[in-house]
Amino acid sequence: MVKKLIFPIQHWLLSQGKCVGCARSLDRQQTREKKGNILVYCKCGRIYLKEGQKYRRALFEEI
Ligand SMILES: [Zn+2]
Repeated sequence: MVKKLIFPIQHWLLSQGKCVGCARSLDRQQTREKKGNILVYCKCGRIYLKEGQKYRRALFEEI
């Protein structure tokens, strides 16, 4: 029930280039290249992967 509600919001935030946890703009966060991927480190501790102009949550094995 809760998950059904949260998922669209997180998806929307990510589509806006924002962190799903704190809504900070991911454009301004620290990035690091690893294994050919661009990882984005949000200040709240969440890690994302930048793919072109889009972001998604990094998988455990990508960190
Ligand atoms: Zn964040």
